[in-house]
Amino acid sequence: MLRNIRRATLQVLRSCGMSRLVANSRWRQQRLLILCYHGVSQEDEHLWRPNLYMEPTVLRQRLEILQRGKYDVLPLNQALEQLRARNLPPRSVVITFDDGMCDFYHHAYPLVKSCGFPVTVYQTTYYSDFQKPVFNLVCSYMLWKRRGSLLNKGAELGLKPPLDLSTESSREKIVLQLMDDAEARHLSGGEKDVLAARLASALEIDYQDLLRKRLLHVMNQQEISELAAAGVDFQLHAHRHRTPMDEASFRKEIHENRQRLRSLTNSDPVHFCYPSGEYHWQFLPWLEAENVISATTCNPGLATPGTHPLLLPRFVDTSARSAIEFEGWLDGVSALLAFQRAAKPE
Ligand SMILES: [Zn+2]
Repeated sequence: MLRNIRRATLQVLRSCGMSRLVANSRWRQQRLLILCYHGVSQEDEHLWRPNLYMEPTVLRQRLEILQRGKYDVLPLNQALEQLRARNLPPRSVVITFDDGMCDFYHHAYPLVKSCGFPVTVYQTTYYSDFQKPVFNLVCSYMLWKRRGSLLNKGAELGLKPPLDLSTESSREKIVLQLMDDAEARHLSGGEKDVLAARLASALEIDYQDLLRKRLLHVMNQQEISELAAAGVDFQLHAHRHRTPMDEASFRKEIHENRQRLRSLTNSDPVHFCYPSGEYHWQFLPWLEAENVISATTCNPGLATPGTHPLLLPRFVDTSARSAIEFEGWLDGVSALLAFQRAAKPE
């Protein structure tokens, strides 16, 4: 209901030319919109997680809107420098992708490249070294594939009934059980993958086929190097996609992530994105100690020259957003009207 009212209001503002006035205003020129994307579907991932995946056709439409509306898509580093110097061009935008999944290589990058837009990838690196599907994601995806049924062979995997696959929350409870069990038993990446393969077998899913297609895989080292050489900007997203609450472990995540990116890209990453959008005040001095100069959240908003550089907002664009909502954020109307709804971080 609220969403329909929001869309109708944005439509009216667009029709009467108000959106364009805001887009070309001095107010908007002093602000930067950082777009956040995650995965682009290879198959049906957007139906499983619409807040995480979008179809390639939707991404193409978004990029066409950026071209048609003559938004100024800037490289992240340059945009942040110009934001501080208060000399951004009109309608400035930055495009970022989180995680660096292999669907970025195959589906998203070719589209972004065809538009000539610069792009930043916040790359997590553990699963880049270890070329298997991301454990929690692949478990969740496979359970979704068998949604509506019961997992009869769950006890063989150490799972406690009821193993109802009918709702998202009941499926996520099973994923949590699997993750807790893996952590309690200190399973290695390889052992977790064996567990995922056993779950696939219990669900009668062809796990080898999933591996062949590299569904839910992070880009491998060769793909990262190739894209870095082609001009993609790779930045920090924690080695194991986590932000521990103690300083030594937190900084180790940054350090390991940076080490790998340095060797793969021949550049020194200094921009960070909080995994799952989760941040705490104590992270800020730890990031500064690691010479990180910017960090992005999943809080919706436009960045201003006064925004803390380690707490930069972003608009998380998903399949659930309409084109009119997307344009509302590009123009600045959505932020101006305080249509700020907490984006669900992934
Ligand atoms: Zn992430």
